[in-house]
Amino acid sequence: MAMDTYLGIDWGGTYIKAGVIDSEGKLLKKKIYSSQRLKEKEFFIFEITSLLENFKKYKLKGIGIGAPGIINVKKGFIYYLPNIPGWENFPLKSYLEKRVSLPVFVDNDANLFALSEVRLGAAKDLERVIFLTLGTGLGSSVIFDKQILRRENSALELGHVPISLGRNLCGCGNYGCIETFVGNKYLVKRFNKLSGKKKQVKEAKEIYQLGLKKDAVALKVWGEFSFYLGRFLAGMVNVFNPQAIILGGGVSGAYRLFRPGLIAEIKKQAMWPNLKGLKLKKAKMKNAGIIGAGLLAKESQMKPRLMERA
Ligand SMILES: [Zn+2]
Repeated sequence: MAMDTYLGIDWGGTYIKAGVIDSEGKLLKKKIYSSQRLKEKEFFIFEITSLLENFKKYKLKGIGIGAPGIINVKKGFIYYLPNIPGWENFPLKSYLEKRVSLPVFVDNDANLFALSEVRLGAAKDLERVIFLTLGTGLGSSVIFDKQILRRENSALELGHVPISLGRNLCGCGNYGCIETFVGNKYLVKRFNKLSGKKKQVKEAKEIYQLGLKKDAVALKVWGEFSFYLGRFLAGMVNVFNPQAIILGGGVSGAYRLFRPGLIAEIKKQAMWPNLKGLKLKKAKMKNAGIIGAGLLAKESQMKPRLMERA
């Protein structure tokens, strides 16, 4: 008898990754799309329906989607996605369920990354954890008492905590959010501004490579990154008293370069009793977003577990 499987969709600013997982969270099949190509609703929905056609041989029991924004988790309703315009007030769950014969569940993408890490990865069995996804923007999730800290809305958008009175315009429409100091596009902008016209980069990954070669501008950018993120995280340590902070997303690839500065800054700013036993770690799971989305589809249909507190 074929095992139950779930389709997980990890919707990021750059890529949309879809995959089939089994009920243990093992990835069986994966497909990647450019987010740019699927930014129109019709294309997005069309690709999901053709995926289901391609994955027919699996005994799919549900679809989980992690979207980068504020979601009403109960209704699977997207309020808005700060870095992807055009999806405001969209009832994704009910819209999709009318077109596919499977239950659909939607949550914030960082919540689902956290869900997979807490069930199977770097945060397994911990009670209080802060997760940050360092990518196009700054996604976040907090696990408290082993549960995603949220109710009806996906909530806890730590990336949109303002840390400055400055005029850095954020994707959310406001100014001075921490995301505008540490997100990929802001790091690129900062590097290109400091380096002048000669050495333009397109991605944080290139700033990392330059940093490894001791490029002075790249090291300055990572120094500023550690300073801002460290100060911000010190504040979050004071609020949540976490056992671990786990960093994922593309920009966390530069962990080696920013880790020492980040730890120094957190230690400088956080209240010392909250630093006891605190661990800073890199995310462990490959494909955490897809697996977390698949786990959402699975756990939302089990009673009671993930949704019991929603
Ligand atoms: Zn913001």
